[in-house]
Amino acid sequence: MDCLFCKIIDGKIPSKKIYEDDQVFAFHDINPQAPVHFLVIPKKHIATLNDVTEDDRAVVGHMVYVAQKLANELGCETGFRTVFNCNEMGGQTVYHIHLHVLGQRQLTWPPG
Ligand code: C5P
Repeated sequence: MDCLFCKIIDGKIPSKKIYEDDQVFAFHDINPQAPVHFLVIPKKHIATLNDVTEDDRAVVGHMVYVAQKLANELGCETGFRTVFNCNEMGGQTVYHIHLHVLGQRQLTWPPG
């Protein structure tokens, strides 16, 4: 499958890996928008949040759990933001779901 993030999981494209287990992979974003900015992705290819099925609930929950564990390990104890962009209007550019985790700067609302 011609998916950038599947290739990162398989090691065919290099990444700055932070964490990996049987379900998820986490790595530093190549174009960070905050001092801490990493992505948590499922090993299963799921194109968008709209493609998540009942069977995917556990892995999506695990992504959120891993996100908060890593955020705290990387020094974001005082706060961080998690974001799923979905489809073009949501700002999604890579069609393999990924949870952005941003921290170590004051984040504002609303986002752009
Ligand atoms: O939510 P969206 O699809 O826009 O986010 C994709 C993210 O993947 C971007 O933040 C981009 O910097 C990141 N990326 C990456 N490594 C790549 C390609 C994209 O970290 N090789």
